[in-house]
Amino acid sequence: MVKTAKFGGSSLSDAGQFQKVAAIVRADPTRRFIVVSAPGKRFSGDDKITDLLYRCAALAGRREDFSAPFALIRDRYLSIERDLGLEQAHMEQALGQIEAALRSGTASRDFVASRGEYLCARLMAAYLGVPMVDAAELICFEPDGSLDMGATERRSAFLQDMPMAVIPGFYGTMPDGSVRTFSRGGSDITGAIVARVVHATEYENWTDVDGFMMADPRIVPEARVMHAVSYEELRELSYMGASVLHEDSIFPVREARIPIRVRNTNRPEAGGTWIVNEGTLMKEHRHGLVAGISGRKGFTMITLTKENLHRQVGFGYGLLKILDRHNISFESMPCGIDNLTVILNDADIKGKMDILYHEIRTELKPDTVEIASSIALIATVGRGMARTAGVAARLFTALSEAGISSRIIDQSPKEMNLIVGVDQRDFETAVRAIYRAFCQ
Ligand code: ASP
Repeated sequence: MVKTAKFGGSSLSDAGQFQKVAAIVRADPTRRFIVVSAPGKRFSGDDKITDLLYRCAALAGRREDFSAPFALIRDRYLSIERDLGLEQAHMEQALGQIEAALRSGTASRDFVASRGEYLCARLMAAYLGVPMVDAAELICFEPDGSLDMGATERRSAFLQDMPMAVIPGFYGTMPDGSVRTFSRGGSDITGAIVARVVHATEYENWTDVDGFMMADPRIVPEARVMHAVSYEELRELSYMGASVLHEDSIFPVREARIPIRVRNTNRPEAGGTWIVNEGTLMKEHRHGLVAGISGRKGFTMITLTKENLHRQVGFGYGLLKILDRHNISFESMPCGIDNLTVILNDADIKGKMDILYHEIRTELKPDTVEIASSIALIATVGRGMARTAGVAARLFTALSEAGISSRIIDQSPKEMNLIVGVDQRDFETAVRAIYRAFCQ
């Protein structure tokens, strides 16, 4: 067994958090590869180190004074170093070099941002008494900035022979040797890549929550943590608004069939949430049929009616052509015998509704066009739903008992996902009703 454990910014925000991380690492000798983010917020309103670094880079780029944000960065690292007695990490000197690079104007924005994880890894390596391996030596990008997985695998292969290592997240190297970062939150990606190259049996992603919740706890206060979810289910849930891991962090481990486990640094005794391949998701992983419920507000529904529409070739195509012309993608397109509906994201159609309406009328000549705005979509996701009779009936009974009528229903042929559209003002009540029907 080999585990790669990635710790997020809130898990590393001060010396106390470093102590928790060290206790977790020491508790399990299979946790051999430790990937760290930059220190995050210690309390609400506090600064994330990465944000401060971006601020310094912007100020230095304009030749303005960056000493105030830099003082906050210095203070954070020096206090962790001091509180943990890690003078051997030579933070003052490393910070001085970054400051000098900023002052000279030679440091790129990405390089400056990457220093948050770099310094954090140095401190963590010193604290654990384990070597640090710089991500610049491991992670390679293509000239266009995308990840070069082949080169990364070749360059990182030596890690497998190391008993343990601490690796900074978030960045790698361009072919010209310069440092490049992933997008924000990208330490998750580094963790996944490291897990893959060392052939980890598990990728642990340590954060500040107990795992993924079955529904947004701001809407359903009693929402439980999911024990396990498949990648496919997670994609459906996150598409509909559930906030999960950095999207790109999934594929390196998914391809290699390495399970991810999301865990809480502040409550390691909680089991967390497993993210596994569909085929590995066992019955015992799931208490009920549903993995989770997520949803979003801000949709518009356009319904066109025309007699015998189902027999008319090219009507749907005509509608898609109009959307394509205005660079609008659609969320869903349910249809009946005489009608066709498209559900569009409000953000995509902003300022375009009049022209869309006009073109639909003149080009498609429908009998009627109905536009309903302020729609919320709710996805109920669970792979077991496909093989169980009466799921839809249960869902609609729950909605009707809550006094809500659904405006639209859409179920994918794979039947892992049942989407209902409701009036936006009914959104929260509907999510609660569905949760209570399936998840309690
Ligand atoms: N520190 C970086 C950020 O704040 C990367 C990460 O934490 O994953 O986006």
